Amino acid sequence: MTILCYHSVDPAWESPLAVRPAEFDDHAAWLARHRTVVPLGEAVRHLDRRGRLPRGMAALTFDDGFTGVLEHALSAVRRHGLPMTVFLVAQTLTEQGLDAWWVRTPPPWKLTTLTVDEVLHLRDLGVGLQSHSWAHHDLPELDENACEDDLHRSREFLEDLLHAPVPFLAYPRGLHDESVRRAARRAGYSHAFALPEGPERVDEYAVPRVGIHRGNSTRVLAIKAQRRYLDVRHSRLARVLGRSR
Ligand SMILES: [Zn+2]
Repeated sequence: MTILCYHSVDPAWESPLAVRPAEFDDHAAWLARHRTVVPLGEAVRHLDRRGRLPRGMAALTFDDGFTGVLEHALSAVRRHGLPMTVFLVAQTLTEQGLDAWWVRTPPPWKLTTLTVDEVLHLRDLGVGLQSHSWAHHDLPELDENACEDDLHRSREFLEDLLHAPVPFLAYPRGLHDESVRRAARRAGYSHAFALPEGPERVDEYAVPRVGIHRGNSTRVLAIKAQRRYLDVRHSRLARVLGRSR
């Protein structure tokens, strides 16, 4: 599994979703040394039928657009010249805004997501910016038309904001089913990214990624970043690595 999924990098937020800054620095250095990290648009052109990239290739993604990415991940990413993509919850960028209601392990303080100015700053630095839906609903809970509307609205809003195409979607919590995949296609995305717990179907609308979590050492990263990681997920070795999203 060679498309990596992080959420935030944060020194204080004790959650599987928030890798510590020192851990992330080590991950970035390890990736720069041991992998060719490519932009997501290049990665999808190299996926095989099982959703794997060629040996030695990896891609770096962040879900949710937390401020911690700007504050604690960007410098390491830039120092090591690693391309990365941030999947944004579009409604958080509207005037009305949206709190990060979907986080199951929030800190005692209010989590912040990127502002419009910060998103445009990241765009100007070459960071990839793509869709993580409109409002982070669990998409299989929506009926197909509502799902398509949500995904379409997010893509249009982000394309207007960024003045660039937004062909990629990361499903909130990685959740999808056949009607969600159809809705993603009809909403105009070319690829959508999941977070499988084990081997599952793979196609352009179910591209597997692996979650990287707080406490994951570079040794764990090295195992998770293997091409065959998902195939070994159910082995004892994989189980000791703990939670996956
Ligand atoms: Zn998310």
